[in-house]
Amino acid sequence: MKIAILKESGAETRVAAIPETVKKFAGLGATVAVEKGAGERASIADSEFEAAGAAIGRRADVLKDADAILCVAGPEPASLKGAKTGALLIGALDPTRRGDDVAAYAKAGIEALAMEWMPRITRAQSMDILSSQSNLAGYKAVVDAASVYGRAFPMMMTAAGTVHPAKAFVMGVGVAGLQAIATARRLGAQVSATDVRSATKEQIASLGAKPIFVEGVAGIEGEGQGGYASETSAEYQAAQAELVSGHIAKQDIVITTALIPGRPAPRLISDAQVATMRPGSVIVDLAAEAGGNVEGCVAGENVERHGVTIIGAVQLARTLPADASALFARNLANFLIAFWDGEKAALVLPDDDEIVSGVRLTKGGSIVNDRLKTAQ
Ligand code: NAD
Repeated sequence: MKIAILKESGAETRVAAIPETVKKFAGLGATVAVEKGAGERASIADSEFEAAGAAIGRRADVLKDADAILCVAGPEPASLKGAKTGALLIGALDPTRRGDDVAAYAKAGIEALAMEWMPRITRAQSMDILSSQSNLAGYKAVVDAASVYGRAFPMMMTAAGTVHPAKAFVMGVGVAGLQAIATARRLGAQVSATDVRSATKEQIASLGAKPIFVEGVAGIEGEGQGGYASETSAEYQAAQAELVSGHIAKQDIVITTALIPGRPAPRLISDAQVATMRPGSVIVDLAAEAGGNVEGCVAGENVERHGVTIIGAVQLARTLPADASALFARNLANFLIAFWDGEKAALVLPDDDEIVSGVRLTKGGSIVNDRLKTAQ
């Protein structure tokens, strides 16, 4: 079995393998080919991949006879010319937004696997790219907020007087939100947080932050389906807006991360609420690409409203390419190892496996994923 690692293009800084995972693949009996310069932006030299057992080559050489092609972002279908029929393409293929590319992969006989559709089951935790990258994004959101904020985060008692601690509020306590709470706490902020899933209350408190929750109106009991939130009632949304209004006016930093799968991000902060914040405050909207939690947020830009900076955060994991690549690469390696058949020295992906049917988009020239078929 030959595994190809592509050099990413455009804004992508990460790479789908690191020397450690290349060594693992070689240990399984696979041959590994890495496209020249693939690790450059993640600070991995070709020579390091070579030392781990990979051959370095141009795209055409790397693709030739490859059985599995690993990528971070899905490559332009035309750039896979020369890949053999039946080759697996494994990465973050963004199937919801890039349906045309998925159709082109199918047409070219490529078997595409979208790793962001990994089911949220215990067995798949170590293969979950959404979790590994969200964790880094939650950390970076706080660091970015701190760098824009014109004040300090921790309390400082100095001979020249006292610096008061920043007040940070995290809205949406999934993987990114939990890491944002932990990071803001480490920097010395006073942290509070909210979510619609009641299970997060305890998690917030266990990180030393204050849970801010709507009482008396049913939100989402426990974890929610697969850990995901669904839409809440109009009554809950009104109560949440009122609660947030009072709280937000006293905050210096707000990090929003709220997402609902398959829907635009819920609107959590209105322009009028932004106006109640002290000038110089900073909001980081991690849901910017999904439409934004904050009114006035622009994906990929910092905008100022009423003296408050709103950061429309996009793909923050890309700003930590070395760590993000390492975690992403291990997620992919864990997937390959889990489905590796030692006797055949090849990947075997049973159609009736929950993980395989979750991530597989195309097979035998057609789109086979139920989620994509219903979206069409
Ligand atoms: P996500 O990115 O889908 O959403 C972020 C958060 O926003 C969620 O906590 C959600 O409840 C919250 N939210 C949605 N609407 C909201 C609103 N109106 N107001 C406030 N908050 C709102 O979530 P995620 O980070 O992917 O993770 C969610 C959960 O799934 C976590 O508990 C995580 O531990 C779990 N998880 C489990 C696995 C696994 O078992 N393999 C993998 C990943 C995540």
